[in-house]
Amino acid sequence: MTEKPNLIGLDFDELTAALMSAGFEKYRAKQVWSHLYCMGVNDFQSMTTLAKPAREKLAEHFSIDRPGISAHQKSSDGTQKWLLRMADGNEVECVHIPEEDRGALCVSSQVGCAMMCKFCHTGTQRLVRNLTAGEILSQLMIARDALQDWPEPAKEGVAKKPGKPGANGDVSSRAVTNLVMMGMGEPLNNYDNVAKALRIVMHPEGIGIGKRRITLSTSGVVPMIRQCGDELGVNLAISLHAVTDELRDVLVPVNRKYPIKELLKACREYPAAGNTRRITFEYVMLKDVNDSMADAKQLVRLLRGIPAKINLIPFNPWPGSPFECSDDATIQKFGDLVNAAGYASPVRTPRGRDIMAACGQLKSASQRK
Ligand code: SAH
Ligand code: SF4
Repeated sequence: MTEKPNLIGLDFDELTAALMSAGFEKYRAKQVWSHLYCMGVNDFQSMTTLAKPAREKLAEHFSIDRPGISAHQKSSDGTQKWLLRMADGNEVECVHIPEEDRGALCVSSQVGCAMMCKFCHTGTQRLVRNLTAGEILSQLMIARDALQDWPEPAKEGVAKKPGKPGANGDVSSRAVTNLVMMGMGEPLNNYDNVAKALRIVMHPEGIGIGKRRITLSTSGVVPMIRQCGDELGVNLAISLHAVTDELRDVLVPVNRKYPIKELLKACREYPAAGNTRRITFEYVMLKDVNDSMADAKQLVRLLRGIPAKINLIPFNPWPGSPFECSDDATIQKFGDLVNAAGYASPVRTPRGRDIMAACGQLKSASQRK
């Protein structure tokens, strides 16, 4: 038996072509797209603007199955984590971080990661494979399903609610307002699939999460940074973590290929950054490794001229991790110095540590065959 092609992850033109090749008229694509991405419909029978024979024909030819959920955990702070099982059995994690008036979904781009950053749990798992665009996008769709975060279908005779998230005090419509490519994997090592998924997420007649509410984090795959800015225009986050090449070579090994100077040059030239949209520099606080005042001063010197915000991340431990988190007082002093130099330097409150859902704690048991 051959698998039916899955429609999730096709861009609008591809969806149109797929439907037309199965004998549907062109205008159907718009209807199906809207069911999939505005309403989050997960079976063809619920596509009620299509007549029954059309729905049956769709089901005959195509699938809209999402990955399965192998495990689900909820942290005491409200953070939720899902372990998702792809059609081939590989698994990745995806995390929802709710805040007062918004919520971010942290999405994975690869099964495992090849970058081997020393402080990262995912980095201890080898790269198994890239996720497809559909698998990247499905993480958001599954989270929306679980959080009941799809808009209510308009009822007959009842005026549609304004489309803005949170309108009418409707809490359920703002669970996922932001998307961060900060889960497992290096997104710029799987750029084409990530870009395709993000374009679908940004499509105004679908999910419609705009580029200003999407952040892509990279360990520093320099040649892809510019393309990402030109083509997607999303917010950029850089996993800097060290201010000398000597140390960064060890902590973030991709630095041996693309050293700090080249990385920061790409940041200076990032097309989608400016005074109103700053680049986030992530800096994990590792006790006695990268947390001295000299490091803080050098950080300020390095970032001169870049519209930047520095996110200090207390190190999140994992079983067997070779580091300790800096003391609170040290983090505070480090942040104060950076702040006094004119850079916002919030300390990222660890979320979901109790369920191993915090930054750098994600891992799945999937192995490279
Ligand atoms: N792979 C991408 C995105 C992922 S992770 C990247 O590396 O940029 C999100 C952030 O968490 C990155 O800055 C990553 O370096 C950081 N991180 C990894 N392990 C961590 C840990 N154990 N504690 C705190 N932050 C960690
Ligand atoms: Fe990969 Fe990011 Fe972890 Fe580095 S920090 S190993 S790039 S997931």
